[in-house]
Amino acid sequence: MLPIQEIVEKENLTKEDIVTLLTVKTKEEQDVLLQKANAVKEQFVGKKVYLRGLIELSNICGKNCFYCGIRAENNNTKRYNIPDEEVVEVIRFAKSNQFSSVVIQSGELCNFAFTKRITRLLEKIQNISEEQFRVTLSLGEQSEETYREWYNAGAQRYLLRIESSDRELYRTLHPNNKLHDYEARLKCLQVLKRIGYQAGTGVMIGLPFQTFENLADDLLFMKNLDIDMVGMGPYIEHEDTPLYQYRESLLPIKDRFDLSLRMIAILRILMKDINIASTTALQSIDPEGREKGLLAGANVLMPNLTPLKYRDNYMLYENKPGVFQDEEESVVYIKKVVNSAGEEIAQDYGDSLHFKKKRQF
Ligand code: SAM
Ligand code: SF4
Repeated sequence: MLPIQEIVEKENLTKEDIVTLLTVKTKEEQDVLLQKANAVKEQFVGKKVYLRGLIELSNICGKNCFYCGIRAENNNTKRYNIPDEEVVEVIRFAKSNQFSSVVIQSGELCNFAFTKRITRLLEKIQNISEEQFRVTLSLGEQSEETYREWYNAGAQRYLLRIESSDRELYRTLHPNNKLHDYEARLKCLQVLKRIGYQAGTGVMIGLPFQTFENLADDLLFMKNLDIDMVGMGPYIEHEDTPLYQYRESLLPIKDRFDLSLRMIAILRILMKDINIASTTALQSIDPEGREKGLLAGANVLMPNLTPLKYRDNYMLYENKPGVFQDEEESVVYIKKVVNSAGEEIAQDYGDSLHFKKKRQF
């Protein structure tokens, strides 16, 4: 087997190389990987961090993913839906704090009223921002028609994690029915790309039954799909979910964290000019998790701008951080994160360079 130093310098990484990088045993080896990824990031996307204000629009969800704390059958969650006026306030706040982009995320609803509500909201956002704002949606699986309607109403980016690219594992993580179908999710990603969205995906890392080979395949899946942006992070258990019963079989939380950093780093080496988020789940394990994600090759942060009164009901997993931090504090905190990683906040929209290059051809 090649030493880590030689693997990270290779032009093309094989699945075997990726598994070797994912399973490094020493801190020195991990540092070689992370430093290489950071150097690639500096060379291809610079030491700039793109901020996206995150709005957790609603925790009302029609689905029952086995890992998620806001799944429909969890009756211990108080459901909410942020009214448009409050969302508009958040947008104004984001604008006055030099954000040029927001992410609207929500539980998944697939009906006429929801589609129209989002369309109206997008139109309002375009109005108040004089079309100076980039909006990413993360609202789950929808019909092609709906995706087109939202694109035409001003959404340019869409984030839909594949969760795991392995069909078998995907089936284990979801109820076996039409609402939770791997092929349908994959098709959505293809449709989003075809419509012209900057398309993002991602996976959870350290899931029950997940192998290092699965994770290597996940990274190759993202490369083969030629994705523009990625948000991935550690799986963290939630006691009101079916997967909680497997908690004893999980990797220790610190190992899930390190593995997530290695996933980010390898992805940066594989896909040099895409946008990669340093996710909140990293911070829930390590207070400096998001800085560490940046130093492992990530270039996007998503400070939570959801009004405080709703925050503790968007509990996807245990110990989700930032629940007691209001919007102002979130912004101050995130600036500290960027500074302590020795980077600076980018002033432009932060479109994926990968996407822009593809568009030029
Ligand atoms: N409902 C939409 C969907 O599923 O695509 C968007 C919202 S969903 C809450 C956003 C992401 O949260 C999911 O794609 C999943 O990866 C992540 N998530 C859910 N439960 C999680 C957990 N227990 N640990 C880590 N991430 C989790
Ligand atoms: Fe709903 Fe998304 Fe959670 Fe699945 S991951 S239960 S679709 S909010």
